[in-house]
Amino acid sequence: MGNGIEAPVPVGGEVGAVMVLGAGIAGIQAALDLANSGFKVYLVDKAPAIGGKMAQLDKTFPTNDCSMCILSPKFIECERNPNISMITYAELDSVDGEAGNFKVSLTKKPRYVDEELCKGCPTCVEYCPVKIPDAYNENLSLTRCIYIPFPQAVPNVAVIDPTTCLFFLRNECQACRPVCKNKAIDFHQKEQKLVIEVGGIILAPGYETFKPQLQSEYGYQRLSNVITSLEFERILSASGPFRGDLKRPSDRKRPKRIAWVQCVGSRDTTAGNTYCSAVCCMYAIKQVILSKEHDTELETAVFHNDIRAYGKGFERYYERAKNTPGVRFIWSKVSILRELPETKNVVLRYRVNGSGVREEEFDLVVLSVGLSSPASAKQLSDTLSVELDSHGFCQSSSLSPLETTRAGIYACGVFHAPMDIPDSVTMASGAASLCSQLLSSQRGALTTKKEYPPEQDVTGEPPRVGVFVCHCGTNIARVVDVSRVVRYAKKLDGVVHVEDNAFACSIDSVNHMAETIKDERLNRVVVAACTPRTHEPVFQQALREAGLNPYLFEMVNIREQCSWVHMKDRQVATRKVQDLVRMAVAKAKLLKPLPQLSYEISHAGLIIGGGISGMVSALALAQQGFRVYLIEQAKDLGGMARRIYHTVDGRNVQLYLQDLVEAVSQNPLIQVYTEADIVDFAGYVGNFITKIAAGPEKMVQELAHGVTVVATGAEEFKPTEYLYGKDPRVLTLLELETEIVRNSERFRDCHCLVIIQCVGSRDSQRPYCSRVCCSQAVKNALKLKQIKPEMEVYILYRDMRTYGFREDYYREAAERGVKFIRFDADDKPNVEAVQEDGRDMLRVSVTEPSLGQRLMIDADLLALGVATVASSGNRELSQLLKVPLNEDDFFMEAHMKLRPVDFATDGIFMCGLAHYPKFIDESISQAQAAASRAATILAQESISAGGVVCSVNEEVCSGCGICEALCPYRAVTLDEASRVAKVNEVLCKGCGMCCAACPSGAIQQRGFTTGQISSMVEAAFAA
Ligand SMILES: Cc1cc2nc3c(=O)[nH]c(=O)nc-3n(C[C@H](O)[C@H](O)[C@H](O)COP(=O)(O)OP(=O)(O)OC[C@H]3O[C@@H](n4cnc5c(N)ncnc54)[C@H](O)[C@@H]3O)c2cc1C
Repeated sequence: MGNGIEAPVPVGGEVGAVMVLGAGIAGIQAALDLANSGFKVYLVDKAPAIGGKMAQLDKTFPTNDCSMCILSPKFIECERNPNISMITYAELDSVDGEAGNFKVSLTKKPRYVDEELCKGCPTCVEYCPVKIPDAYNENLSLTRCIYIPFPQAVPNVAVIDPTTCLFFLRNECQACRPVCKNKAIDFHQKEQKLVIEVGGIILAPGYETFKPQLQSEYGYQRLSNVITSLEFERILSASGPFRGDLKRPSDRKRPKRIAWVQCVGSRDTTAGNTYCSAVCCMYAIKQVILSKEHDTELETAVFHNDIRAYGKGFERYYERAKNTPGVRFIWSKVSILRELPETKNVVLRYRVNGSGVREEEFDLVVLSVGLSSPASAKQLSDTLSVELDSHGFCQSSSLSPLETTRAGIYACGVFHAPMDIPDSVTMASGAASLCSQLLSSQRGALTTKKEYPPEQDVTGEPPRVGVFVCHCGTNIARVVDVSRVVRYAKKLDGVVHVEDNAFACSIDSVNHMAETIKDERLNRVVVAACTPRTHEPVFQQALREAGLNPYLFEMVNIREQCSWVHMKDRQVATRKVQDLVRMAVAKAKLLKPLPQLSYEISHAGLIIGGGISGMVSALALAQQGFRVYLIEQAKDLGGMARRIYHTVDGRNVQLYLQDLVEAVSQNPLIQVYTEADIVDFAGYVGNFITKIAAGPEKMVQELAHGVTVVATGAEEFKPTEYLYGKDPRVLTLLELETEIVRNSERFRDCHCLVIIQCVGSRDSQRPYCSRVCCSQAVKNALKLKQIKPEMEVYILYRDMRTYGFREDYYREAAERGVKFIRFDADDKPNVEAVQEDGRDMLRVSVTEPSLGQRLMIDADLLALGVATVASSGNRELSQLLKVPLNEDDFFMEAHMKLRPVDFATDGIFMCGLAHYPKFIDESISQAQAAASRAATILAQESISAGGVVCSVNEEVCSGCGICEALCPYRAVTLDEASRVAKVNEVLCKGCGMCCAACPSGAIQQRGFTTGQISSMVEAAFAA
């Protein structure tokens, strides 16, 4: 394994194709990035449908987005992308060859249903007499032995389970065959051997959840109301066994008291996994919040050992849960005692600080099961000659986190280590970046461009509006009377076709929509479903495929705006849907086709910030053949990493940094500007112009580039507490690290060193966790124990957040005698300088919560785990680039789950500490990810813009200039000669600010003209 920075060695006859193994969220993201940057992708999964575990989740923390709702547009993108071949229900047999040129053999299992012929209708399922447990619902409900994996499955094709089908067992039945209109059932289908040739491989086979039946003390499968967290996800889900009603399995009654037991199969040195599973604290908090939304009277308790809310937005989410009435977080080991025979309730026993042991009864107990390496890991490792680590996950190093032990094969997602969705998506893009670098000479060699039918001219045609109303499973239909809406919409003027769909965004519904547009000669389409933010492009695509201009489309959000906000009042919700549909139809009738412009782009990237993230991104782009400008405000490259000497797993950061700086400096495609400030920033995706003042002389230069990556890092918080700055014996953890590396004299007479955590983090001023400090404390404590084993080292902490495999080092530190003492936020430690018996000491006092006693520690040195704070320059930069910051002044991504390194502004990306505090390995992955996302733009010859933008009626414009002053995108300028406003359609984002302010009504926003909006207002009052 390399150090992750050398250029991939090109080998003869590279193939411009990649196999992505595993089509969970990680695999899907990697496939999309690669296919959109010029590579052919084979997306292979052993399951009959893509989606992995995320497809089973109800909603996702900390934004509570509905998992399927954010996944299904990705499914459709994969399905429709001509450069992605999905190979589902397939197992890997062998891999021969080398980086750049692999030959992969696969076996595709028989579904006994022809994938080409099956249209995904449920008729065969309805006729099948054999009921089997539904694995999608974690066996809490039944399906049939011919089944479609789940409602929005892609491919939407049935599959027969031969182990339960009567034909295979007894040569009987075959009820499904005659009822299939498409003659898709094929009981004689055989397994198929496939061979594909690819240049690179990405492994994304994800994880399995820990099986609690392996440890009898959990009572799982013995006590009927003890369930796993994944089962609870299905119970909460609208497509779950109880259609989203919160019920318990034993008697289908609504529970009044639910307990969560944390760390089931994680952080367990006896029979479970020793590492922390990284997501369970957060998903338990999410489940508490969602359960309380189902029933505000519910009593909940989470029994835990540290709450590891270490990610962006997590601490606030945790605080929100903590401050909800009826929610308790109890720091205690808990025993599951027994089931009460009459009620089937479960009795738990736990210790309460200060008042001994207590027993408590719950209606339902949820086991927060950990994440284990996938069952196929060992076999994959043997077949691919890729090593696994001691936990059975993919072996990698913290300085080359995406590489496996075999060149040309990369890993991402939970197969790398337990992680959440945003981290899985980030790693996936990062792995795609490495493949792009390896195969850059073959970019475009095997890809094709998607062709659409010619656009139909609808000018002059009377409106023929089609209305599609979505049930969203039961998300909408449970509250809204959808049939009434359908009947109502049929009577609206201009409407010629109305239908309802269980899931309008499922692949068959979208295909069907395109067919219906053609069959019914629709020239306007209204979809009443969920949010246009994620789904509008999906439906617009259906219009394009049917030959309609995509802007002849109007979308109504009847989920967030009707069924969710009016969930207690069916009448009100249904009436509101009718009103919104009536308004949308009124507007749709006036919609006009909108043009798109195609323009050429600059194939260079600008990276702002020359720390590890910026340099990795720069190299990743340069190694794909793109020119890069790297802007660093300091004199030298390196950023924060210049003060870090080793990672917790012992890698030498300074050596890595030296190599990285050298690789960047010697790369002919990278132009480095140090002591450089950005003076001006203008333009748009594909064509940005940045003015910089660089070097000691502050020479001003203009740089043209197509993409921008923000990698401006963060700063170490300088505290005023605990005598910092007043007493030289008080250091930050970074300062302590420097002292350790220098083998400072100070340690010679140091008998006791105390580290206090959460200094400046998780407080009212900075209510976020700085993520790295717990592991940083452990790392330094271990080093100290190594150089002076007899030194007493204490770590005073609130929650030890050594997530993932970092837990191993926490345990090792405890084993080596480091003492960990927990304190509460409202009873922080106290430090005073004292002199006793001629000895100068720092006296640290802290209350140990389980003992309830104040402890005194006399320390020689004190180190503080201080916060990581956003760079002081972020505000100015955010204004220059017109990109947002979050509440803590870190840069804000377009979508926390699905676009974790993209800004909402096209063509601008972020990585590293500028996004949020993180470790070096995470920064490297994110930097690669930003490069991958940027390459999806740079790999194109041209891009299109236009559509919903503003335009000026020159005859009416009075040339007052208000629009020019207001436009946040500098898209409107006043032509000096004609004194008329002009809109640059490429720059315009269609925000409508200029239109609202124009005193003469000369600027109109296409797709939102005054006439169209007025028609909606009139329709609103026309009920
Ligand atoms: C109860 C629970 C709740 C959670 N809630 C959240 C949440 O709210 N927010 C959040 O961010 N995260 C949450 N997570 C974590 C989240 O599920 C993961 O971060 C994410 O799904 C990981 O995606 P992945 O693609 O790496 O893996 P997976 O989703 O496991 O996908 C792996 C894919 O690989 C396929 N595969 C496996 N082996 C092979 C093979 N040999 N050949 C071919 N294909 C193979 C599988 O069939 C699967 O499709 C939760 C986890 C659990 C257990």
